[in-house]
Amino acid sequence: MDFDRVDDFENVEMTYVSFLSRGYISKNKHIFDRIKLTSFTKFILKSCIYGTPVFKMGNSGKKLLVLSGIHGNELPPQLANLELMNELYGKKLNNTVYFIPFASPKSTMNNERSFNDVDLNRSAHITNSLSNKIIQLIEELKIDFVGDFHSTAYNSNPGFEAVFSSKNPTPESFLMANYVSDSVGSEIITYDIAGSLYRGAVEDVCNLRGTPAITCEVLSPFASIGKGSFERSLKQMKSFLTYFGF
Ligand SMILES: [Zn+2]
Repeated sequence: MDFDRVDDFENVEMTYVSFLSRGYISKNKHIFDRIKLTSFTKFILKSCIYGTPVFKMGNSGKKLLVLSGIHGNELPPQLANLELMNELYGKKLNNTVYFIPFASPKSTMNNERSFNDVDLNRSAHITNSLSNKIIQLIEELKIDFVGDFHSTAYNSNPGFEAVFSSKNPTPESFLMANYVSDSVGSEIITYDIAGSLYRGAVEDVCNLRGTPAITCEVLSPFASIGKGSFERSLKQMKSFLTYFGF
Protein backbone atom coordinates (compact mmCIF):
# COMPACT_ATOMS: atom_id res chain seq x y z
CA MET A 1 0.00 0.00 0.00
CA ASP A 2 1.69 3.19 -1.19
CA PHE A 3 0.93 6.50 0.42
CA ASP A 4 1.48 9.74 -1.47
CA ARG A 5 2.70 12.95 0.08
CA VAL A 6 0.12 15.71 0.02
CA ASP A 7 1.70 18.76 -1.58
CA ASP A 8 -0.11 21.50 0.30
CA PHE A 9 -0.13 19.81 3.70
CA GLU A 10 3.22 19.03 5.18
CA ASN A 11 3.68 15.63 6.81
CA VAL A 12 0.30 14.35 5.65
CA GLU A 13 0.22 11.31 3.40
CA MET A 14 -2.76 9.67 1.77
CA THR A 15 -4.04 6.78 -0.29
CA TYR A 16 -7.44 5.31 -1.22
CA VAL A 17 -9.18 2.16 -0.03
CA SER A 18 -11.69 2.14 -2.88
CA PHE A 19 -12.83 4.36 -5.74
CA LEU A 20 -16.34 2.89 -5.88
CA SER A 21 -17.45 4.62 -2.70
CA ARG A 22 -16.94 8.22 -3.83
CA GLY A 23 -19.40 10.90 -2.86
CA TYR A 24 -19.95 14.60 -2.25
CA ILE A 25 -20.08 15.16 1.50
CA SER A 26 -21.30 18.71 0.79
CA LYS A 27 -24.60 17.29 -0.48
CA ASN A 28 -25.48 16.15 3.03
CA LYS A 29 -26.50 19.41 4.71
CA HIS A 30 -26.96 17.67 8.07
CA ILE A 31 -23.20 17.28 8.40
CA PHE A 32 -21.92 19.88 5.95
CA ASP A 33 -23.58 22.79 7.77
CA ARG A 34 -21.61 21.83 10.89
CA ILE A 35 -18.19 21.45 9.23
CA LYS A 36 -15.59 24.18 9.80
CA LEU A 37 -14.16 24.70 6.33
CA THR A 38 -10.43 24.98 6.96
CA SER A 39 -8.20 24.53 3.93
CA PHE A 40 -7.24 21.09 5.26
CA THR A 41 -10.90 20.10 5.66
CA LYS A 42 -11.68 21.31 2.14
CA PHE A 43 -8.88 19.08 0.88
CA ILE A 44 -10.27 16.07 2.80
CA LEU A 45 -13.78 16.62 1.44
CA LYS A 46 -12.43 17.03 -2.08
CA SER A 47 -10.59 13.71 -1.74
CA CYS A 48 -13.93 12.00 -1.03
CA ILE A 49 -15.08 12.87 -4.55
CA TYR A 50 -12.72 10.14 -5.78
CA GLY A 51 -13.35 7.41 -3.22
CA THR A 52 -12.58 6.47 0.39
CA PRO A 53 -9.42 8.33 1.36
CA VAL A 54 -7.01 7.24 4.10
CA PHE A 55 -4.76 9.84 5.68
CA LYS A 56 -1.57 9.32 7.64
CA MET A 57 0.18 11.60 10.14
CA GLY A 58 3.30 10.82 12.15
CA ASN A 59 5.95 8.26 11.43
CA SER A 60 6.95 6.46 14.62
CA GLY A 61 5.65 4.47 17.57
CA LYS A 62 2.43 2.50 17.38
CA LYS A 63 0.24 2.48 14.28
CA LEU A 64 -3.32 3.49 15.14
CA LEU A 65 -6.43 3.81 13.00
CA VAL A 66 -9.27 6.22 13.75
CA LEU A 67 -12.19 5.02 11.65
CA SER A 68 -15.63 6.59 11.19
CA GLY A 69 -18.47 6.54 8.68
CA ILE A 70 -18.86 2.76 8.50
CA HIS A 71 -22.52 3.71 8.85
CA GLY A 72 -22.94 6.76 6.61
CA ASN A 73 -25.92 8.15 8.53
CA GLU A 74 -24.03 8.23 11.85
CA LEU A 75 -22.75 11.75 11.55
CA PRO A 76 -21.22 12.80 14.93
CA PRO A 77 -18.09 10.60 14.68
CA GLN A 78 -17.43 11.68 11.09
CA LEU A 79 -17.56 15.33 12.15
CA ALA A 80 -15.38 14.52 15.19
CA ASN A 81 -12.78 12.74 13.07
CA LEU A 82 -12.44 15.83 10.85
CA GLU A 83 -11.99 17.97 13.95
CA LEU A 84 -9.40 15.54 15.35
CA MET A 85 -7.44 15.61 12.09
CA ASN A 86 -7.43 19.41 12.14
CA GLU A 87 -6.30 19.49 15.77
CA LEU A 88 -3.45 17.02 15.17
CA TYR A 89 -2.33 18.51 11.87
CA GLY A 90 1.05 20.19 12.22
CA LYS A 91 1.68 18.69 15.68
CA LYS A 92 4.61 16.43 16.40
CA LEU A 93 3.17 12.99 17.05
CA ASN A 94 4.88 10.18 18.93
CA ASN A 95 2.73 7.58 17.18
CA THR A 96 1.58 7.04 13.61
CA VAL A 97 -2.09 7.80 13.15
CA TYR A 98 -4.16 6.74 10.18
CA PHE A 99 -7.54 8.39 9.67
CA ILE A 100 -10.51 7.22 7.65
CA PRO A 101 -13.04 9.98 8.40
CA PHE A 102 -15.54 8.82 5.74
CA ALA A 103 -15.48 5.05 5.19
CA SER A 104 -18.08 5.43 2.47
CA PRO A 105 -18.46 9.01 1.19
CA LYS A 106 -21.35 7.84 -0.99
CA SER A 107 -23.31 6.64 2.06
CA THR A 108 -22.55 9.86 3.93
CA MET A 109 -23.65 11.91 0.91
CA ASN A 110 -26.95 10.02 0.85
CA ASN A 111 -27.22 10.06 4.66
CA GLU A 112 -27.85 6.31 4.66
CA ARG A 113 -26.63 3.45 6.82
CA SER A 114 -25.64 1.04 4.04
CA PHE A 115 -23.33 1.20 1.07
CA ASN A 116 -25.11 -0.14 -2.04
CA ASP A 117 -27.52 -1.98 0.28
CA VAL A 118 -24.63 -3.63 2.16
CA ASP A 119 -24.21 -2.97 5.88
CA LEU A 120 -20.47 -2.41 6.17
CA ASN A 121 -20.53 -3.52 9.80
CA ARG A 122 -21.96 -6.92 8.84
CA SER A 123 -19.74 -7.60 5.84
CA ALA A 124 -16.13 -7.01 6.90
CA HIS A 125 -15.52 -10.77 6.69
CA ILE A 126 -16.66 -10.95 3.03
CA THR A 127 -13.68 -10.78 0.69
CA ASN A 128 -13.43 -7.44 -1.14
CA SER A 129 -16.52 -5.86 0.38
CA LEU A 130 -15.78 -2.19 1.11
CA SER A 131 -15.22 -2.84 4.83
CA ASN A 132 -13.15 -5.93 3.98
CA LYS A 133 -10.91 -3.62 1.92
CA ILE A 134 -10.41 -1.62 5.10
CA ILE A 135 -9.51 -4.86 6.92
CA GLN A 136 -7.01 -5.65 4.15
CA LEU A 137 -5.50 -2.19 4.58
CA ILE A 138 -5.25 -2.70 8.35
CA GLU A 139 -3.39 -5.97 7.84
CA GLU A 140 -1.14 -4.70 5.08
CA LEU A 141 -0.10 -1.67 7.12
CA LYS A 142 0.25 -3.83 10.26
CA ILE A 143 -1.87 -1.43 12.25
CA ASP A 144 -1.55 -2.05 15.99
CA PHE A 145 -4.93 -0.80 17.25
CA VAL A 146 -8.23 0.16 15.63
CA GLY A 147 -10.89 2.49 17.00
CA ASP A 148 -14.16 2.34 15.06
CA PHE A 149 -16.49 5.22 15.95
CA HIS A 150 -20.27 5.13 15.55
CA SER A 151 -23.41 6.74 16.90
CA THR A 152 -26.57 5.08 18.11
CA ALA A 153 -30.14 6.34 18.51
CA TYR A 154 -32.57 5.73 21.37
CA ASN A 155 -34.39 2.43 20.84
CA SER A 156 -31.67 1.09 18.54
CA ASN A 157 -28.69 -1.10 19.38
CA PRO A 158 -27.18 -0.35 21.87
CA GLY A 159 -29.23 2.84 22.34
CA PHE A 160 -26.82 4.42 24.84
CA GLU A 161 -23.23 5.68 24.84
CA ALA A 162 -20.96 2.67 24.95
CA VAL A 163 -17.65 0.99 24.13
CA PHE A 164 -17.80 -2.50 22.63
CA SER A 165 -14.94 -4.96 23.06
CA SER A 166 -14.18 -8.64 23.41
CA LYS A 167 -11.85 -10.71 25.59
CA ASN A 168 -10.94 -13.44 23.11
CA PRO A 169 -8.93 -14.01 21.05
CA THR A 170 -7.47 -10.49 21.49
CA PRO A 171 -7.66 -9.38 25.14
CA GLU A 172 -6.09 -5.98 24.41
CA SER A 173 -9.49 -5.03 23.02
CA PHE A 174 -10.98 -5.39 26.48
CA LEU A 175 -8.11 -3.52 28.17
CA MET A 176 -8.41 -0.61 25.77
CA ALA A 177 -12.19 -0.48 26.13
CA ASN A 178 -11.81 -0.36 29.92
CA TYR A 179 -9.47 2.57 29.62
CA VAL A 180 -11.80 4.52 27.33
CA SER A 181 -14.82 3.66 29.45
CA ASP A 182 -13.08 4.80 32.65
CA SER A 183 -11.75 8.02 31.21
CA VAL A 184 -14.81 9.13 29.22
CA GLY A 185 -17.63 7.52 31.19
CA SER A 186 -19.09 5.48 28.31
CA GLU A 187 -20.63 2.19 29.37
CA ILE A 188 -18.56 -0.91 28.58
CA ILE A 189 -20.04 -3.84 26.66
CA THR A 190 -17.79 -6.88 26.45
CA TYR A 191 -18.18 -10.25 24.79
CA ASP A 192 -16.17 -13.32 25.71
CA ILE A 193 -15.52 -14.15 22.09
CA ALA A 194 -15.39 -11.63 19.24
CA GLY A 195 -18.14 -11.95 16.66
CA SER A 196 -20.26 -14.34 18.69
CA LEU A 197 -23.45 -12.26 18.34
CA TYR A 198 -23.34 -11.61 14.58
CA ARG A 199 -20.73 -11.72 11.86
CA GLY A 200 -18.87 -9.10 9.91
CA ALA A 201 -18.41 -6.15 12.28
CA VAL A 202 -15.14 -4.34 11.58
CA GLU A 203 -14.18 -4.49 15.26
CA ASP A 204 -14.87 -8.24 15.52
CA VAL A 205 -13.07 -9.15 12.31
CA CYS A 206 -10.03 -7.18 13.51
CA ASN A 207 -10.08 -8.89 16.90
CA LEU A 208 -10.61 -12.34 15.37
CA ARG A 209 -7.58 -11.78 13.14
CA GLY A 210 -5.39 -10.49 15.97
CA THR A 211 -5.58 -6.70 15.62
CA PRO A 212 -7.06 -5.27 18.83
CA ALA A 213 -10.11 -3.12 18.12
CA ILE A 214 -12.97 -1.38 19.89
CA THR A 215 -16.24 0.14 18.70
CA CYS A 216 -17.29 3.41 20.36
CA GLU A 217 -20.88 4.65 20.23
CA VAL A 218 -22.31 8.04 21.17
CA LEU A 219 -26.00 8.81 21.46
CA SER A 220 -27.53 10.80 18.60
CA PRO A 221 -30.52 10.52 16.29
CA PHE A 222 -29.53 8.88 13.00
CA ALA A 223 -28.93 11.19 10.03
CA SER A 224 -28.33 14.24 12.24
CA ILE A 225 -26.02 15.49 14.95
CA GLY A 226 -27.66 15.37 18.37
CA LYS A 227 -26.77 17.98 20.98
CA GLY A 228 -23.37 17.22 22.52
CA SER A 229 -22.82 14.06 20.44
CA PHE A 230 -19.99 15.47 18.35
CA GLU A 231 -18.15 16.53 21.51
CA ARG A 232 -18.67 13.09 23.13
CA SER A 233 -17.38 11.30 20.04
CA LEU A 234 -14.31 13.54 19.91
CA LYS A 235 -13.70 12.76 23.59
CA GLN A 236 -13.82 9.03 22.87
CA MET A 237 -11.35 9.45 20.01
CA LYS A 238 -8.94 11.45 22.14
CA SER A 239 -9.19 8.87 24.92
CA PHE A 240 -8.41 6.12 22.40
CA LEU A 241 -5.25 8.01 21.38
CA THR A 242 -4.32 8.88 24.96
CA TYR A 243 -4.20 5.17 25.78
CA PHE A 244 -1.02 5.12 23.73
CA GLY A 245 0.52 8.13 25.46
CA PHE A 246 -0.45 11.10 23.33
ZN1 LIG B 1 -22.98 2.21 13.46
